[in-house]
Parts: sequence; structure tokens; C-alpha cells
Amino acid sequence: VPVLAVVGRPNVGKSTLVNRILGRREAVVEDIPGVTRDRVSYDAEWGGRAFTLVDTGGWDPDARGMAERIKVQAEVAVSLADAVLFVVDATVGITDADEAVVRVLRKSGKPVLLVANKVDDERREAEAYGLWNLGLGEPHVVSALHGRGSGDLLDAALEILPEPPEAGPGELGGPRRIAIVGRPNVGKSSLLNQLAGEERVVVDNVAGTTVDPVDELIDLGGQTWRFIDTAGIRKRVKEASGHEYYAWLRTSTAIERAEVCVLVLAGNESIAEQDMRILQEVREAGKALVIAFNKWDLVDAERRYYLDREIERDLVQVQWAPRINITARTGWHIDRIVPALDRAIEGWETRVSTGALNAFLGRIVAEHPHPVRGGKQPRILFGSQVQSAPPVFKLFTTGRLDQGYERFVERRLREEFGFVGTPIEIKVQARE
Ligand code: GDP
Repeated sequence: VPVLAVVGRPNVGKSTLVNRILGRREAVVEDIPGVTRDRVSYDAEWGGRAFTLVDTGGWDPDARGMAERIKVQAEVAVSLADAVLFVVDATVGITDADEAVVRVLRKSGKPVLLVANKVDDERREAEAYGLWNLGLGEPHVVSALHGRGSGDLLDAALEILPEPPEAGPGELGGPRRIAIVGRPNVGKSSLLNQLAGEERVVVDNVAGTTVDPVDELIDLGGQTWRFIDTAGIRKRVKEASGHEYYAWLRTSTAIERAEVCVLVLAGNESIAEQDMRILQEVREAGKALVIAFNKWDLVDAERRYYLDREIERDLVQVQWAPRINITARTGWHIDRIVPALDRAIEGWETRVSTGALNAFLGRIVAEHPHPVRGGKQPRILFGSQVQSAPPVFKLFTTGRLDQGYERFVERRLREEFGFVGTPIEIKVQARE
């Protein structure tokens, strides 16, 4: 899926534009310098084409001055993106910071669309003409707030985004996309090297695949996999010296582009805040997940005891994810990765027919009806799986369901239909 990044100074309206493009209020709107947000990449669609939208507005690389900060932001964005929307405030005109961004964009050679925002009505359009001076061609005038011009902008954006590769076998086309994620030093590179071994695929030999320079194709278990952003795994040193958020942005974008993620944890160390954060991102992005406890050679009986407690405490939310213990350094248990990936992807793509689902719902409701609340007892009338990869269920009910009951339904769904390795979403539509 191609990546479109939105860059620009604070307060030009990047997040408002992102919300407009997503058609929902998801990105946080306040563009407060110094505030970082977790969510930076989003699945987006326009004109039947899917792309990943990256909002650079919400984070603040730890560089000193404003100009420097924006420059770094733009550099990161262009390194990740296939095309860039450069947003300028038409009511303010060109600033030094804008010019610094233009230099970065020029150097990158990536396609750029200049967006003149805050053009709320026709009278304002004249103000945007001055932006021709940036040398980025015609400014696309929009009002992100009111939606003016945003459709035309997206049409133009689709034209500069690369065409998606020809759909091959499988629902989403092409080799399976997998991201190895985890905090620094847990052994991601070691795992990648073990997996790749001799099996690195020469890209030219695979018909109909175009591969990002940061991705890698590897043959495993008789099929070709696309490992997302392996460059990020290798460029650790550079990232460690600079901005933590750079690494986060890469991770987040890799998760967004992947179908299945392998979260690598260091088995010999406590599960950390950062591990939980990555986990959360995978869940929110709705990707299949396998958890690999690496460095198992360093796990003794005592550590094992504490690890079991940590798993109970920290990984309850992802009890459904296959867990494997590996030693990436020696290759021990590496052969368990592919079967785990296959199971996770199978669960992720499972579709339950409406008939089977409602027979099942009828059964569990009979066995275990919803508790009576305030004299009322909400009933599930009908259910349907409205999406797969990841599975999303819609339940039509006579009233709101308790959280506990929703969790019960999810647990039973997993038991019945084998949703291993995938998050499940249950949407309840209550009839008034
Ligand atoms: P990354 O930052 O997640 O890519 O981690 P690396 O793959 O660079 O590994 C970090 C360090 O952990 C290196 O010194 C590796 O040799 C070491 N390492 C990786 N896997 C294992 C393992 O299974 N056992 C042990 N003992 N060390 C490992």
C-alpha cells in the first residue's frame, strides 16, 4: 500500500486535513508544538484505492529550534513516504520554516503536492497565488475545516502515488507482508538474518512484484514473504543516536503496512512499557500477531517463573496470539515461526457465514443470557461478520451490552471458530 505523508509547520491544519481525508475525527486536532501522539499512520481510501496516510503533525523530534524540528520531520516523512502533501497556511504566506521544508522535499525527489490550506472562501483564493513562489507548482487550495477542495486534492494525490502492484494470489495480492517489530536490542536483526539465511530472494526473479528498497523478499516454508522495512531493523544505530520518535514512526508505519506482525520480546528481560505500546499499536491497527520470546538461551527457571507472571499480567489482552520461545542467535525453534504465522493469518482471514454465526449466537444466548440490568435484559437479535482481516462482527441487540458480556461473546467466538492470532472487533447496534 503506498504511503502518503502530510508535512508542514505547526498550526497550518495538518491534522484537520488528515481528519478530512479519513472522513472521520480520528487524528487529534490540536497542533501544539511539543506534543507527541501515538497514532501517526492511518488506513485511508479514496476512489477505491487504499493508501496509508502518515500525519507528521503530532510529534516533535527532540531537535532544538522550530526550523530544525520541522526539517527533521520532513526528512523522516520523505524517507517513509511515496508522495507528500506539503501543507501551507495561505492566510500567513511563506515563512522561513516553509522554505526549509521545500529544500528537503526538493532534495528527496519525491512527488509533492503543495496544499494551500485555510482558503475558506473564494475571496481568499487570491492569497494563495503568492505560494507559486515556492517553486512547487500550482497550490491546491483547500479548506480542511470546511472540506472545500479536498476531493480535488485527493484526486491529484492519487495521480502522484505509485500504482499498487498487480494483485497476485490471495485476497490482498502479492507476497504476505510481515513486520518484525520490537524495541531495540531484542534481536530483530538476528531473527531476520536467521530467517533469511540462504533464502533471500532476488527481487527481479519474482514476477509482478515491486519492492520498496526498505523491504525484503524471503522464501520461507515454500512461499515468498515480504518483510516490511528491514532497513529500519538495520538502521538501528542511526536511530539510536537521533530521535526516538523516528524509530516509533517507522515501527508504526511498518505495522500499518503489514498483514501480520512478529513482536519480538527479550525473554530474559521484563516486559517493558515500550513492548506494551507496540502491542497496543498492533491491536489498534487490527493486524495478525505472533509473539516471539527471544534469547531463550538466557532464560533460567527463576526467570521463567517471573515471565509466566508477567505474561498473565501484561499479555491478557492478547491471549489469542501464538507465543513461541526462540533463540535467534543460534536458530533454535526458528522453524516454529512459519507455522505460527500461518495460523495467525488463517485466523485473521476467517469468515463465518451468517447462518453459522446466528446458530452459534442463539446457542450461547440460551446457555448464558445477558444479566438483567435496571429491569431490562438486552437480547442479541442478529449478528453478521461485516469484515475479515481483521474480523469485525456487528451485533444487533435490543439494548447496550455490558462489557463483561461482550468479552464473553468474544471468548466464545474464539473458541468456536478458532480466531487464533487475530484481534476481533465487536460492534453493537442497539435498537432503541
Ligand atoms: P535488534 O535491535 O532488535 O535488531 O537486536 P539485534 O538482533 O541487533 O540483537 C541485539 C543483541 O542481542 C546482539 O548483541 C545479539 O547478538 C543479541 N541476541 C540476539 N538474539 C539473541 C539470542 O537469542 N540469545 C542471545 N543470548 N543473544 C541474542
